[in-house]
Amino acid sequence: MIDLKDVTKSYGKGLPAVSHANLHVDKGDFVFVVGSSGSGKSTLIKLLLKELDTTSGHITVNGERLEGMKHRRIAKYRRRLGVVFQDFRLLRDRDVYENVAFAQRVIGKPTRVIKKRVPEVLQEVGLAGKYKSYPDELSGGEQQRVALARALVNRPDILLADEPTGNLDPKTSEEIMKLLDEINQRGTTVLVVTHNREIVNTMKKRVVTMHDGVIVSDEEEGGYHEA
Ligand code: ADP
Ligand code: MG
Repeated sequence: MIDLKDVTKSYGKGLPAVSHANLHVDKGDFVFVVGSSGSGKSTLIKLLLKELDTTSGHITVNGERLEGMKHRRIAKYRRRLGVVFQDFRLLRDRDVYENVAFAQRVIGKPTRVIKKRVPEVLQEVGLAGKYKSYPDELSGGEQQRVALARALVNRPDILLADEPTGNLDPKTSEEIMKLLDEINQRGTTVLVVTHNREIVNTMKKRVVTMHDGVIVSDEEEGGYHEA
């Protein structure tokens, strides 16, 4: 599903942000990516989103090689990925329903499909009954649930989350991580970048640790140790 072979990304001079990374993620896997600030985690996510190109090495996702991918194919490729960030990135002038529906409108889904699918996905993230709220009227945890609904509405194969609980309190963080686990159990491959040591240590998932751009460990039922 995701395959990195000897991937290096340099932004310029100095140490590469990602260096000779090898990583294989199978369909249905749940993977935490941990490491101190500046270790290359967000760069890894951006490479997978094809927001950045590799300096060397190869990335294959869903059988597609990312190097040399043309604009139109990139747009299509990204539809198969869902992504959430620390800062939610919701449209502040649209209500919950519209924030989620928008992701279907932009790819031309018919209104009848949207009307059926949006309530379904809001239900999945535990937000039934909040359709008419605006982001400012929601807690951080609820806003991240909206972002997750938007990421999932088009049924992506892979969900990428870059520090999804970075702005949330411990209890809410745990709820969001549990939700990511449920999403994974319903079949979506999930890759979560996080600093949340406690949650990583209790969830007993695969843990990939980065340090200065290098993947220094990759353990099943791993723990959070900074290299
Ligand atoms: P993390 O997400 O683990 O904190 P990043 O992937 O954001 O790490 O950054 C990895 C390294 O790449 C850091 O040294 C950072 O300063 C550098 N970096 C990130 N983005 C850029 C950029 N746009 N231009 C130059 N250097 C960058
Ligand atoms: Mg980062």
